Order: sequence, then C-alpha cells, then structure tokens
Amino acid sequence: MTGLKPRPGILDIAPYVGGEAKIEGREEAMKLASNESALGPSPKAIAAYQAAAAELRRYPEGTCRELREAIGRHHGLDPARIVCGAGSDELLTLLTRAYVGPGDEMIYGEHGFLMYPINAKAVGATPVAVPEKDLTFDVDAVLKRVGPKTRAVFVANPNNPTGSYVPRDGMKRLAKSLPATVLLVIDAAYAEFVSRNDYEAGVELVDAFPNVVMTRTFSKIYALASLRLGWVYAPAEIVNVLNRLRNPFNVSTAAQAAGIAALEDQAALAKARAHNDHWRPWLEKELASLGLEVHPGVANFVLFKVGSGGQAADRAFAYFQSHGIIARKVKAYGLPDYLRITVGTEAEMHAAVKAARGFVKAKEPAS
Ligand code: PMP
Repeated sequence: MTGLKPRPGILDIAPYVGGEAKIEGREEAMKLASNESALGPSPKAIAAYQAAAAELRRYPEGTCRELREAIGRHHGLDPARIVCGAGSDELLTLLTRAYVGPGDEMIYGEHGFLMYPINAKAVGATPVAVPEKDLTFDVDAVLKRVGPKTRAVFVANPNNPTGSYVPRDGMKRLAKSLPATVLLVIDAAYAEFVSRNDYEAGVELVDAFPNVVMTRTFSKIYALASLRLGWVYAPAEIVNVLNRLRNPFNVSTAAQAAGIAALEDQAALAKARAHNDHWRPWLEKELASLGLEVHPGVANFVLFKVGSGGQAADRAFAYFQSHGIIARKVKAYGLPDYLRITVGTEAEMHAAVKAARGFVKAKEPAS
C-alpha cells in the first residue's frame, strides 16, 4: 500500500480502451475498429518519415514552424494561430488543463468522444453529458444546460462514434449563444471526409469568436495515426496559453516531416476522399438492406444497431471476429446495442457485409 493519493477525479476515470487489433488464434485480421484510413499514408509521407531517421539524435524543432506553415498554406490560415500536438488528443487534453479546473463543469454530447469526460475528470472537473437528439449533438439542449460552472463545451463535428454532424447554422448558433467565458472546442478530426454543403469544419467560427477553437488530426484521412500528429487553430490568446503549457518537443521530427509531405500530396488526399465517398454509402446501404438499423453518418465509419438488450452487440462482435473482422463495440459511448465499422478496403467491405449477412441469418429463428 502506498500513502500516495492521486488528485480527485483521477480514480473515477474508466481508462480509454481503443479498438482491438488482433483476434486470438488468427495471424491476419481485418481491423475495422479504430477509424484508421483504408488506403494508408501517402508514399511521400512514408519517405519523409524514413529520411528523418538520419537525424534521430537531434531534438525536433520545437515550434513545428515548417509544418504550421504548410498547414497554413493548405488551409489558408495564419501559421501563428496554429499549435501542433502529439495527436489531436494531446491538444484536447491541453485545452482542458488550460481552461477547466476542480469544481468546474465541462459539457459534451451524450454519445460524444470519450476523451472529453476523461480529460475533465483528470483535472477534477465534472463532465456533463447532455442528451442528444437522433444520436446527434443537440445545440439547444446544450445551451439550456450551460450554467455558471460551465467552462467549456466539447463537440466532435462529425462525432465519433455516431458519425452525425451539426450543420454550419447550428454551430454558428452555438458559438454565438455561449457566454464569452465558455470555451467552445470543435473537434474536427473527421472533417476531410465530410462532403455536405451545409458543413463547416470550424475555421469561420474561430475567426469570428475569441472563445472558439478547432482541432484537426493527421491520424484519419492522412493515415498517420501511429505518428501522433494533430493541430489546433485558435485565437492568438489561446495559442499563447497552449504554447506555455505544452511540452517543448511534443511533436517528433519524423512526424513533422511526414505531416508536411502528406499535405503536399493532394492526389493521395483526393483518392482517400473518393474511396470513402464510394464505400461508406455502399456499406450503409448493404447493411440496411439486411434489415439492420443504420445510423447515417458523414465520416469514415458506419454505426449500426444489431439488436437490443445489450447482448446482441457482444454476439455480433464475436460473429464478426470469427469471420476475421474486428468491429468496435460502443457500449462505453452509451450505445450498447450498436457496433461501429470503419470504412476499409474494397475486400474488407465485402467481407464485412458477408459477415453481417451471416449474423442476421443466424439470428433469424429457424422456420
Ligand atoms: N477526436 C475524435 C472525434 C476521434 O475520433 C479521435 C480518434 N479516435 C481523436 C479526436 C483523436 O485523434 P488523434 O489523437 O489521433 O489525433
């Protein structure tokens, strides 16, 4: 026994459990559990990563200047208003540490990304899960819940694991109506996959409001999840705060170099987007045609209901596993009857639908 006690809230955290990567007794598995890219990174990003090996003994350039400039060019943003991090996860954590403390409240959507409540508890704050409407972040319900203790609102747009998004107007109303003392974090990890005219990733709102930030990642469409690379676009004052709080060398040289190369390969980006534009609707349609209740999404994964009573998801998960496919259970997100499947390669998508068909058939009572 130790006399040490972690700070209040920390032992209330249920540790984040990522998607599984292996199936017992199988050499190969189709890993469709972590919303990783179907096509893999740009070969140029891989080459840049490999070239960085020659400089391993050197510390990285601590401000990620060239990477921020490349992001700035690509998105039309001021590099001075960008902070890079070890995945967008790091930036979400830093934002929480900077603006939320013991006794404060942090608001998020009922089925929102799990790192938000984890981060809130880690700083001794209370995460407040506001009920959603049709598995979608409910702007009005959130605005009603904002109170004197609220310090931040976190919204993933689109959200993981639902794939739902809040259109531009709704996000604008949220930003406009929040008190200036409440930080609005727009987590746009899946922004590049969205092809809806009424979607805006967050740049407009960051430019218009001093209390709004947008986080982005290289883990998803750029397929660099292993390198841990993300960034935040924020008002200058918030950039200043984050730069005081972050570790001096939080992004490796290899990650910076690969990120720059990935941004320069626009053809790879277009290919990844086109792949997803084809296969996500395909997967949604095929699963729906089996009688499964599919929640329409706009990111690179599909959420669908496999039954009720909480047991069906376990059975479906095991069934997929026995067919070499790792899906994602989402009980921890308040969705015990659902599974989530990431858009994979063509072969993986056909295998996933075949397994789903087998599961639905096996479920049907014998006549
Ligand atoms: N936000 C959302 C909504 C996510 O789904 C994820 C990845 N699971 C992240 C942030 C974190 O991504 P990363 O740290 O790899 O940038």
